[in-house]
Amino acid sequence: MKDHAAGIGWIGLGAGAPAPAAARFGQKAALLAEAAGLGLPVPPGFVLAPDVLADPAATRAALDIGLARLEAETGYCLGCAENPLLLAVRPSVEGGGGGVIPAILDIGVTEAALPAIAARRGERVARDLLRRLVQSYGATALGIEGEEFEFALYDAMKLAGVESETELDPADLADLCRTCLRLIEEEAGVSFPQEPRAQLDGAVAAIVKLWTGARARTRRVARGLPEDAPLALIVQAMALGIGPGVCGAGVAQTRDETTGARRLAGRFLEQAQGEEALMGLRTPALLTVVERLDQGLREPALEERCPAATEALLEAARALEHALGDAFSFEFTLDDGVLHLLEVKPARRSPRAAVRIAVELAEAGAITRDEALLRIDPAALDQHLHPSIDPDAARDRIGKGLPASPGAASGALVFSPDAAELAAAAGRPAILALIETSPEDIRGMHAAKAVLTVRGGMTSHAAVVARGLGTPCVVGAKDLILDRAAGEIRARDGRVFRIGDAVTVDGSTGEVLAGAVPTVPPEITGAFARLMDWADAARRMGVRANADTAQDARIAHDFGAAGIGLCRTEHMFFKRGRIAAMRRMILAENEADRRDALAELLPMQREDFIELFAQMAGHPVVIRLLDPPLHEFLPHGEADIEELAIALGLSPASVRARVLELSEFNPMLGKRGCRIGIAYPEIYETQARAIFEAALEAGARAGSPVVPEIMLPLVSAVRELVVLKEHIHAVAEAVRAERGAMVDYRVGVMIETPRACLRAGEIADAAAFVSFGTNDLTQMVYGLSRDDAGRFMPDYVARGVYAHDPFHSLDLEGVGEMMRIAAERARAHMPGISVGLCGEHGADPASVEFCEQAGFDYVSCSPFRVPIARLAAAQAAIHARRAGSARDA
Ligand code: PEP
Ligand code: MG
Repeated sequence: MKDHAAGIGWIGLGAGAPAPAAARFGQKAALLAEAAGLGLPVPPGFVLAPDVLADPAATRAALDIGLARLEAETGYCLGCAENPLLLAVRPSVEGGGGGVIPAILDIGVTEAALPAIAARRGERVARDLLRRLVQSYGATALGIEGEEFEFALYDAMKLAGVESETELDPADLADLCRTCLRLIEEEAGVSFPQEPRAQLDGAVAAIVKLWTGARARTRRVARGLPEDAPLALIVQAMALGIGPGVCGAGVAQTRDETTGARRLAGRFLEQAQGEEALMGLRTPALLTVVERLDQGLREPALEERCPAATEALLEAARALEHALGDAFSFEFTLDDGVLHLLEVKPARRSPRAAVRIAVELAEAGAITRDEALLRIDPAALDQHLHPSIDPDAARDRIGKGLPASPGAASGALVFSPDAAELAAAAGRPAILALIETSPEDIRGMHAAKAVLTVRGGMTSHAAVVARGLGTPCVVGAKDLILDRAAGEIRARDGRVFRIGDAVTVDGSTGEVLAGAVPTVPPEITGAFARLMDWADAARRMGVRANADTAQDARIAHDFGAAGIGLCRTEHMFFKRGRIAAMRRMILAENEADRRDALAELLPMQREDFIELFAQMAGHPVVIRLLDPPLHEFLPHGEADIEELAIALGLSPASVRARVLELSEFNPMLGKRGCRIGIAYPEIYETQARAIFEAALEAGARAGSPVVPEIMLPLVSAVRELVVLKEHIHAVAEAVRAERGAMVDYRVGVMIETPRACLRAGEIADAAAFVSFGTNDLTQMVYGLSRDDAGRFMPDYVARGVYAHDPFHSLDLEGVGEMMRIAAERARAHMPGISVGLCGEHGADPASVEFCEQAGFDYVSCSPFRVPIARLAAAQAAIHARRAGSARDA
């Protein structure tokens, strides 16, 4: 005979039996059983597994077994006139997801059982329970429109001249019940079952059928649940919630959803069952006095009506957190002031709250620090990591929309993605304002410091993309009128803001402010700081930052970067007052003129490097020599060309001709990277000199030597490295001779081309370190322009051609294999050589995991993402340790 007991899990019954596993019996049943096992007040019951429910005969047999035990334990029995057992049947699904199908409550109430119930609870309660069962069974099991019963209730209240269903007397309720029974017969063509076991069998069969129906499938998909999620069913003794004393139903959160602080909040509706507190039938009470005062309400809170109940809720929260290592919220019922927990589910939490909860649980010893670290999605930390408006700054608000992506940024207004890109290329912060955005605007959004749209909601393209990019964004700023053709925004108060005018976007509040309002960097304090400390203790890899300015370096340092993994020196040339010298250098037709212009740039670079070294005191600083195609520095429009010609004392025609001469068909594959250094060694020599002189100066000021690391971009042949190293060494010797002192320094290579990966062995022979530039490497391994990929990438990802955008998360199979080959070959030639990653992937958790597995020494990412990388590196190290122990075991 089949073992039907095997398909049953016990809740508060079956002493010694293991709690039903969530994977088989659903999260609701599993958590209720755990809570019951801790001695918390959970009505006893049992749960039937999906495979049992798939077979009606097995279902009946399992119900027999379950009922027998429940009856034996409770002393009540289903269908006994003198001692009736009342039951609830509730869905239980893996991963939560209840609510798709309602529970059926009060099963077991029949005309025959009324006297016994009335003797215990009073006539009114007995009558109320029966009409409730008739209604919920009629609606859920027999398919009567719920509205019909609501109309019947409304009519009954009108007839009785009362405002609330709780005022209906037993006779009114008996009449209402008769009306509902008639409704069932007329609409469903069957009679309501007056036999308790038939009610139970009918309720179970109906819920199983509904669960597999089209409507439930659609609702599951809408809630992000699998369409064919298996259903288990809980059959549980009723906690009535109706009767004398403080009776009712409620929901309770035990942690603040935004901050994670322990704080009781919720709703409680007297004389109610199930989810009625949330259904708006009557106005529920709040749970605590604090909540009530917060909302300015006068109705007493549950805490005032029945302090023992709120105390019991908090007590249950503490016990569950301690035992199960997570924070929970509850659905509960009070029966004459006594608490019964009907649902225990993981508390909803913002990313900020998640950090606080995980840290507090670890500090209380409920989970380990490793578990706390693994609980937090590194990408979600983004919310903590953006600058916000200085609280002391004046806010001159010109418009308001939806706070679509957190953080605040100021910049010059631009009205096209191209303009945003141009501004970024020139190192100028830009605020991209559009009616709404579409996929072709992505590059402009990438380039902008913030995005503002006058249309769109929280899931509009602009909102979704900006959140993904971590760019502050306000959408749907309807009170601003944007005239793209005129290049202006008009505010309600009549003020007009034109291209180039400074505005500030506060993506955390949805406000748009006039002018460049000062911002303050986010602070890493409290639970977040503790989590970061634990991450640092857990990780193996170093985390550095890609920082080009002293300000970047300060943020990086504050965010815990242990050094700079990439300083893109070209960004320093875009600064005001420098671009002219840079352009003169680029346009020079001979070496002498070039050296002349470089001599002007040298002290500027030296100053920048001194600041960088000072900021990163003692930590490594990797400075990359000039990389981008030179024409990127040149003017493009006619007006700019004329302006430059005047500045340089040349004719516009000659400037135009030189710009044309310098333009390349394929600049990304053209004269860029170390090829610039080979073609014009004086450029790299000047940069090397600036680095050495700055290192000497910074070392002298700090009283401890600085060891700069010079990185050559886009190397693909070892000879490039060898030749350039000779130039750099010659400069070093010249500095030594001039100053009578010199610093130690290291020259390394950026691995950004497939050839460099394959030849990494011999490159490593000549390099002090290697660092993967995964932006270019992805571009080159795929043969996919990093600047143009945005035009079709969304289609590729949407259609599953690529699983994800390889410029955001490393392509582990292709680019990753290249990197593994390179790292292995480099180490085979030069054991212990430092290997890093400094592309945009440096804070992408999956890419960081790859770097851990490949034994890299560090990852480097933009300053604001350093904490994300620290946590991702910690998680990767924990995974690696666990995999190691599993292998050893
Ligand atoms: C890279 O290519 O990955 C890199 C870090 O350099 P850049 O983005 O400056 O080309
Ligand atoms: Mg690169």
